[in-house]
Amino acid sequence: MIKEELWQAVLAQIQLNISQANFATWFKDTGIVSHKEGQVVISVPNSFAKEWLENKYGKNIFKILYGLDKEIKGINYSVGKTELRSFKRATAPSPLSGQLEFEEFEVNKDTNLNPRYTFENFVVGPFNELAHAAAWAVSKKPGLVYNPLFIYGGVGLGKTHLLQAIGNVVLKNFSQKKVKYIPAEKFTAGVVSSIKNHDMENFKAKLREIDVLILDDVQFLAGKEKTQEEFFHTFNSLYENNKQIILSSDRPPKAIPALAERLRSRFEGGMTGDIGYPDYETRVAILKTKGQEKGVGFSEEILDYVAANIQRNIRELEGALNRLVAYQRINNQAPSLEMTKSLLKSLFLSPNKVANPKKIIQAVAEFYDLKEKEILSTSRKKEVVRPRQIAMFLLREILKSSYPFIGRRFGGKDHTTAIYSCEKIAEEMGNNENLTSEIELIRQRISVA
Ligand code: ADP
Ligand code: MG
Repeated sequence: MIKEELWQAVLAQIQLNISQANFATWFKDTGIVSHKEGQVVISVPNSFAKEWLENKYGKNIFKILYGLDKEIKGINYSVGKTELRSFKRATAPSPLSGQLEFEEFEVNKDTNLNPRYTFENFVVGPFNELAHAAAWAVSKKPGLVYNPLFIYGGVGLGKTHLLQAIGNVVLKNFSQKKVKYIPAEKFTAGVVSSIKNHDMENFKAKLREIDVLILDDVQFLAGKEKTQEEFFHTFNSLYENNKQIILSSDRPPKAIPALAERLRSRFEGGMTGDIGYPDYETRVAILKTKGQEKGVGFSEEILDYVAANIQRNIRELEGALNRLVAYQRINNQAPSLEMTKSLLKSLFLSPNKVANPKKIIQAVAEFYDLKEKEILSTSRKKEVVRPRQIAMFLLREILKSSYPFIGRRFGGKDHTTAIYSCEKIAEEMGNNENLTSEIELIRQRISVA
C-alpha cells in the first residue's frame, strides 16, 4: 500500500469510531510523510494536534496501522509547516475532562505552588464569596486573622485554586515567609515513608519551619491514625507560634469520618468557609474570563449553552471551554452552536458517567471510609448500617432499581428492608441538612468517577 492509501485506510476506520466533530478537528490536514523500516511518520498541522493525536488517539492509530501492515513497529508525529506560533505547549489532555492548558506554568518545587492560581483570575459570586473573603484576608495577614482557615466544598469548585492563590500572594508580599502547599495524600505518604526510613524527626523538623502550611483535601486523612497524630502535633506547634494553617476538604470537619476528635475540634477552631455551586451568571462570567485569558471570545448563545448544561463543576466548565478554544484555534473560527453541541456531547454524556450499582456502592463506601464488603455485609454496626441505607437509597434514586433487586444486591436482604432503608433516608433528609449535603457529595462523586 502506498502511504496515501495507508493513511486513507486508517482515517476510514477512525472515522467510524469517533464523532464527526472530533474527526474534523483532529484529523484535518494529517497525512503520512514517510514509511520506512517499520517506522511511520505522521504529519500534523500543529503541535497542539500532535499532542492530541499522540495522547488520545495514538494507541488506536497504531493498532489500525499494525492491523494493516504487521511490519509497522512504531509511529512518530511530525509537525508540518503550518504550525501556529501561538501555542507554546499543550500538555497531555485528559480525555474525559478535555482539560488543556495553553500557557506554561511551572510549579515551584519548594512551595509546590502553581502561579496559575491567582485571586485575579478567581471569579467571585454569591456561592464562594465568604470563602474568597476569608482567603483574601488570610493572604494579607497570614497567621493573624483566621487560624486555621478551613475551606470546604464539592469537587472542582475552586478549593485548590483559592488555597494556592493565598500561597502565591503570601509569597509575593512576604518573601521571607516559608510557604508550603501539600495535598493531604502526599502528607500521608510522607508520614509513611518517614516511619519506614526512621526519619520522623527530620520530617517533623522540616514541617515546623513552615510559616504558612496549606494542606489540601484533608478528608483523605480519614482513618489514617498515625498521620492524624503527626499532623495534630505539627498543627499545635505551628499554631502556637502564630503560623498560618490553611485546610480544605470536600465536606465540613464534622462530616469527615474517622477523624480524631481533637483534630476535628482544631479544624473547627478558626474560620470555616464553604463553596457552593455557582449560579448561572457566575458560570457565564467564569466562561468569559477563561475565554479572555486564552484570547478567544464566544457568542452569548454558546456561552449560554455551556453554562446551562454544566452546573456543578467549574473544572468541567473549563474542560468544555478548552474544547471550544481548541476547535477555534485549529479552524480559525468559532464553532457554531451545532458544532458546539457535537464537540461537547461526550462531556455531558460520557459513558463513564452512567452510574451502576457497583459504582454507587463504591462511592458510598469510599465516602464513609468503609470497605465495599462491609457495606454489603450483614453487620449491624451503626457506622455501617447507615451508609448501607444511603447506598440503597441511592440505588433507588439514581437507578430506579426495584426493592427486591436492592435487597438482593445487599446480601440477600428482604425487599421490606430495602423499602425501610430508602424511606428512612428520604425522611431524614427532610430535616437533616448534613445528611442532605453528604448525599449530594456522594452523588457528585458518582457522576465524576
Ligand atoms: P477543587 O480543588 O475544589 O476540586 P479546583 O480549585 O481544582 O477545585 O478548581 C477546578 C478548576 O476550576 C481549576 O482550574 C480552577 O482554576 C477553576 N476554578 C474554580 N473556581 C473558580 C473561580 N471561582 N473562578 C475561576 N476559576 C475557577
Ligand atoms: Mg482540589
